[in-house]
Amino acid sequence: MRQSALFTKTRKEAPANEESTNAKLLCRAGFAQKEMAGVYSFLPLGVRVLNKIGSIIREEMEAVGGQEVLLPALQAKENWVKTGRWESMDDLYKLKDRGNREFALGPTHEEILVPLMKQFVASYKDLPVAVYQLQNKFRDELRAKSGLLRGREFLMKDMYSFHADEEDMKNYYEVMKGAYRNVFSRLGLRARETEASGGTFSDFSHEYQVLTEAGEDTILYCECGFSQNMEIATGKHGDKCPRCKKGTLLEGKSIEVGNIFPLKDRFSQAFGLSYSDEKGKAHLVHMGCYGIGLGRAMGTIVEVHHDEKGIVWPASVAPFQAHLLSLPGAEKEGEKAYAALLGGGVEVLFDDRQDATPGEKFADADLLGIPLRVLVSEKTAKAKKVEVKARGEESSKLMEIDKIGTLL
Ligand code: ATP
Ligand code: MG
Repeated sequence: MRQSALFTKTRKEAPANEESTNAKLLCRAGFAQKEMAGVYSFLPLGVRVLNKIGSIIREEMEAVGGQEVLLPALQAKENWVKTGRWESMDDLYKLKDRGNREFALGPTHEEILVPLMKQFVASYKDLPVAVYQLQNKFRDELRAKSGLLRGREFLMKDMYSFHADEEDMKNYYEVMKGAYRNVFSRLGLRARETEASGGTFSDFSHEYQVLTEAGEDTILYCECGFSQNMEIATGKHGDKCPRCKKGTLLEGKSIEVGNIFPLKDRFSQAFGLSYSDEKGKAHLVHMGCYGIGLGRAMGTIVEVHHDEKGIVWPASVAPFQAHLLSLPGAEKEGEKAYAALLGGGVEVLFDDRQDATPGEKFADADLLGIPLRVLVSEKTAKAKKVEVKARGEESSKLMEIDKIGTLL
């Protein structure tokens, strides 16, 4: 894509009342725009990143048998009354239509999916099954101040699994741990699998926590892999690790980028979701649920991958693979390099702007954070070459313009 055609522009100033690093950088670089506290628009560069995060998540959910659906945000009050959450959920958005009927804007989707599955699950032969979606959630969050980390409208991957008994659910829960490890490592995030309480539903759950000062949570962890959410932790900073018995426990602020938890029969009971076994006896279905915040993951990636000049995207989620910059006097060679990169199948943003100075182009490239910068200047053009430099590194190398299609 040509940067001269991109409608967004970089900005020197971050939006007013924006304290978080992730939102400051994402808004300045033109990935996102703040509409109000906890509500952001995603712009072309931001959508490319979200789509890449989404593709990685989809691949890993499909690999463990997940089937994708898309459920409505607008949900009937009756379902929420049935589970008791119409009254008990403080962050539920409620609204009325002109006929005075009441609705919820979905903060999560058990109230839609469980009655839906009732239409399809009848026998033990219909289980197990896992269903997921990538969909916008709405929550009346009190503290929407951390940019993309805590939205009032935000994109989530939520998956729900349905099983004949608790043991089958627990086996699948272990499979999901593997899928989650894959997702986060592919996203360039070191997410620690953290023991947490099960809230109202269960005795335990697991959170995927990324250490950073920007986090709202605190975990107690050891380099051996042990990690507990401080809210439930039994030990404290400086204690010997109960798992490896060698390391020392450390306390650190962190962001929960995903979580998995057993729902048992909490929702199957509310909606009467049951199946009949081989002998025709009825049992309630056992469920697990598994969430990942896509916007929160994007914000977390920025929190852990940036420097004083801007974002440093991991290649797997970068909006483009290469950022081609042509400087004055090298316009023709810039076009050549662009064609060669496109011909080689490289996703490239081409800074072909005539009205930007070299200094502005360099600063914007650092702010946008695309992994490889490909520079054509008058000097490199004379030698029929381009200069290739990785974002976040100082050293560069020269490549022939004609061969630049093989860059990756
Ligand atoms: P938190 O404790 O941070 O409020 P939660 O326990 O409410 O999270 P879930 O309801 O289980 O989270 O949602 C699953 C995932 O969705 C979370 O792990 C997180 O990545 C993401 N998420 C939750 N709330 C928000 C939000 N307000 N903004 C952005 N992402 C969110
Ligand atoms: Mg919450």
